[in-house]
Amino acid sequence: MFRSLTVGFLYGWGSLCVLGIYSVTALTVGSQQQRVTNLRNRIERIRTTQFNFLSQQLDSMWYYLQHDFETTGQLSELEDAMLQQAPLEVLERMALVRPNALAAMEQQLQEFEQLAPLVIMSDFMTSLQDVKQPLSTNVMPSETAAATTTPSASTSTPANPRTTTKKVPSSLVLANLRREQQSSNETVVDICIVGAGLGGLCAGAILNTLYKKQVAIFESHYVAGGCAHAFPRQVGNLQFVMDSGPTILTGCTSNSRVNALQQVLQAIDQTVEWIPYQSWGMIESPGTPNELRWSVPLGKEKMIQGPILQFGGAAAVQEYKALQELSKSLTVGAELPAMAMRPGKTALVPLLRYLSTTTKLLSQPMDLLTGTFAPYMDGPLFTVQSPWLRNWLDALAFSLSGLPANRTAAAAMAVVLQDMETSQLDYPVGGMGSIVDALVRGVEQGSAGSKVHLRSPVKSIDCNDIASRFVGVTLENGQRIRARQGVICNAPLWSLAEFIKDPRALRKLNNNQIYNLPASSESSSTLPQRRTSWVNNRIVDHRDNTATIDTESLLQTCETAEMTGSFMHLHLALNASGLDLASLEAHYTVMDRGLGGHNATDGPTGILNMIAVSNPCRLDPTLAPQGTIVVHAYGAANEPYEIWEDMDRKSTKYRILKQKRAEPLWRAVESIIPDARERVLLELIGSPLTHERFLRRPGGTYGSATEDYLPNGLTNFESLVLANDGVFPGIGVPAVAIAGASAAHAFVTIGEQWSVLNKLERKQQR
Ligand SMILES: Cc1cc2nc3c(=O)[nH]c(=O)nc-3n(C[C@H](O)[C@H](O)[C@H](O)COP(=O)(O)OP(=O)(O)OC[C@H]3O[C@@H](n4cnc5c(N)ncnc54)[C@H](O)[C@@H]3O)c2cc1C
Repeated sequence: MFRSLTVGFLYGWGSLCVLGIYSVTALTVGSQQQRVTNLRNRIERIRTTQFNFLSQQLDSMWYYLQHDFETTGQLSELEDAMLQQAPLEVLERMALVRPNALAAMEQQLQEFEQLAPLVIMSDFMTSLQDVKQPLSTNVMPSETAAATTTPSASTSTPANPRTTTKKVPSSLVLANLRREQQSSNETVVDICIVGAGLGGLCAGAILNTLYKKQVAIFESHYVAGGCAHAFPRQVGNLQFVMDSGPTILTGCTSNSRVNALQQVLQAIDQTVEWIPYQSWGMIESPGTPNELRWSVPLGKEKMIQGPILQFGGAAAVQEYKALQELSKSLTVGAELPAMAMRPGKTALVPLLRYLSTTTKLLSQPMDLLTGTFAPYMDGPLFTVQSPWLRNWLDALAFSLSGLPANRTAAAAMAVVLQDMETSQLDYPVGGMGSIVDALVRGVEQGSAGSKVHLRSPVKSIDCNDIASRFVGVTLENGQRIRARQGVICNAPLWSLAEFIKDPRALRKLNNNQIYNLPASSESSSTLPQRRTSWVNNRIVDHRDNTATIDTESLLQTCETAEMTGSFMHLHLALNASGLDLASLEAHYTVMDRGLGGHNATDGPTGILNMIAVSNPCRLDPTLAPQGTIVVHAYGAANEPYEIWEDMDRKSTKYRILKQKRAEPLWRAVESIIPDARERVLLELIGSPLTHERFLRRPGGTYGSATEDYLPNGLTNFESLVLANDGVFPGIGVPAVAIAGASAAHAFVTIGEQWSVLNKLERKQQR
């Protein structure tokens, strides 16, 4: 290890000196020929250092040239030159004939020269990280280690596309571009995005607003927002607005850790008005002799001195404090701004701006940072003994990930434990729809011509004739949209393979391993089987280690990612006359069979035990006409899809089952508003099939299991990036805002991102 460190250091330092010299090279302004010669010399000098980053920069120059020539209709000239000459000569020739391209190339080169030392430092730090010891096996028993195995760069990241993908001759790329251009009825944009969930909207709003990219987002639903959409309903002349998903958000008004979604909203200059509140209600075993009501308060020591002391006793308090302290260092990643995220080799470069936080981050063992909370629940780092505290942590974890605490992301748990001390809850005025509206405005503002297209289901993500690059999408109605730079996929992981119709692209996407699409294969027994968290009506509390998942193949990883459970929804519009709304909480967690469930095999994660009840009119009465309210009760991730699979949604059997399965939801609502059934103006029951159908979430799933989060959104194609809650940091509003921001930055150079960060910092200081 010492040897690799020394070699790494010398290599890094030596290169730093070499590139340091380049960075002081002045941009000479002379005759066009002089400038071109100068440019060529500088490129050649850099070429000798052969850093990965260089090829990315050269690619950006090519892209500019291609685009420039495409728009000026001189593609054939460029193509001829390509066919006859070596790339550098072509660059030179292009620079001579197109003054704009020359200026752009000079600017790109200067950016590269300035950033090169940082890139080397980043590569160097990455190499340090690579040689860092993982959590040593003498600390973690092998069983626990296996249960907490997470996808790491070495096991599940597809190899760097640059090292595995054979370079396609630029002439072919150009010839292809030209052919693409000739299909005149096609719309051309910079980037296509599949899905207007929060991940897709954040990516699109960032690319449009901050980088002036022309983005087209295609969403199958008639409203944007995905899981987080809001929908209107009319009863007579009464108009209601219903949230369909998330309502629990923190860090949008507090000065401590700012929610990543709020960071994106600030960056794109869109304002959402927030209503802060400090607690939510807990109701255990409603309507039984064991009924228990308490409040979950946020604020310094409030949870500790309140419920933890009351129900867990002094021992639980001690354990809770120890856990907070031990896991505190895992929250460091959340200190880094979402807008500084980018995937891949250069991820560390923008983070160097926040050197002390980044250094702290890099000093953490990566498998703890990206792993589950198991080492803190079940040892070796800590073992929670208090039964009450274990149940509470499982309940908290379940609402984050759809899994118990020992299978929930450790970093997410650590952040929540800290935020409950330092943050408060925030609800957006106008409901969750106002967040979605703000993001849509972010996508469509300005002059780039970006747009969110609703009712536009995507059928395929298309590659070019030689399967070297993704060039756009085809909608289910047959319309084709071309993308100059590539495609971001916000649809869930399990949909990816279905979008790719070209077998060569499928194969390359899958690290050159053959991938049989279920539909095209004769022998279904050889296909990877889908996995769910629910087996025999229980959540699997440890991973099935016998599963032979090939983590080297992206598509198989996506296809077999474990699906957490699905949902039952009960949306209500109620007559509120005589109801003392002020005495109610805005949000409740109702544990139908108590926090611990009926027994140890039931627990907080048992089927439809935990029911969330959102009562948003308590905070924002404008969501419903005067004298009425809306209420949303749901069992998140605790309804097994298997119960519903293959049911005919039009059948009486289906309607009866919906009524039956909604009973625990009704009990939860009645524990808050006892005469709720008499107040009903509108009742809508949603099943896992509803969730699957409207949101295109396979199996109606809440999201993938923590152990299956992809480490980043990269694929074997630079022109295809994923931005959804299957990408680390996973499920949840702030998490997908980060995934969206990171995916967006895969389509801009480090220089562009760096200068945007400068601008945002200046704006913040004003
Ligand atoms: C009921 C519920 C409650 C939740 N509560 C909270 C909470 O309180 N706090 C919190 O932080 N998080 C919560 N979450 C989690 C959070 O809402 C999600 O993790 C997040 O919104 C997922 O966003 P996404 O962009 O990754 O995916 P999605 O929202 O699934 O977006 C993907 C989009 O892609 C579209 N799409 C798919 N296929 C196609 C296609 N072929 N063509 C076009 N479009 C397509 C879909 O229609 C969808 O709009 C909750 C989720 C649910 C469902």
